[in-house]
Amino acid sequence: MTEAMFYEKAENSCARCLLCPHRCLVRPDGAGLCGARENDGGALRSRNYGRISSIALDPIEKKPLRRFYPGSLILSVGSFGCNLSCPFCQNHAIAQERPATRAAGSAELIGRALALVPRGNIGIAYTYNEPTVWYEFVLETARLAHDSGLKNVMVTNGYINPEPLAALLPHIDAMNIDLKGGADFYARLCGGREDAVKDAIRMASAACHVEVTTLLVTGHNDTVAAVEGVARWIGGISPDIPLHVTRFFPAHKMRDCEPTPAEFVFEAARAAMRHLKYAYPGNVG
Ligand code: SF4
Repeated sequence: MTEAMFYEKAENSCARCLLCPHRCLVRPDGAGLCGARENDGGALRSRNYGRISSIALDPIEKKPLRRFYPGSLILSVGSFGCNLSCPFCQNHAIAQERPATRAAGSAELIGRALALVPRGNIGIAYTYNEPTVWYEFVLETARLAHDSGLKNVMVTNGYINPEPLAALLPHIDAMNIDLKGGADFYARLCGGREDAVKDAIRMASAACHVEVTTLLVTGHNDTVAAVEGVARWIGGISPDIPLHVTRFFPAHKMRDCEPTPAEFVFEAARAAMRHLKYAYPGNVG
């Protein structure tokens, strides 16, 4: 297993991970909250380095990115693990559980991405599970992909500390970052902090193309006021940043909830347009 970046050794053979705001103190033979980093004899190691759970050639609009090479395709890859614990996770089988994976090196992925260029592929998207907790592999692959003239896209929850984000950004061309709700929403449902995600959005939008996604979770953030709050904040950075308001479907620990009414998704997009130039309804067919 590859040694992790961004950690420090601590007392009693523990390791303090510094990759994301959780700053897990990982005990010997234990793992961090994300399930993707473990303590091996006092050294922190990446469990998912070079492990692929999913791979597909997707339309860029499916990431979703609407204003970055529209009409193109992108080779999309994922591994396993996530550093948030949203009960409504739409990808929980690979984000919250341990799916089957296979070994794949950076060179293999880049070779596959280059072979797909004639079909319209522009590069590699790190997606499906949370790419922040796949950090070392994403960084290495993104560097090599850039050297080969490919684009790099991250689809992320934005829950990453500033230092690792700064090291990654020169190699990333576009990000879709979730902004799931307000501070209470993050604390109550996701096991994270809204302010850390906002810091990541601010940093990323100064360095690469950024679009933001808010999943409208029935009964939790599906109000015009909540959507306008998100859109107003994004507009304060730049009204050119697109917002995707997407429809929730019952999943993971929220299988008993109703899907977001499709008409509300359209209403939410209209409300967001009061603060932004671009707002897109998502998952509405
Ligand atoms: S990346 Fe994983 S191990 Fe590191 S602080 Fe975050 S949740 Fe903990």
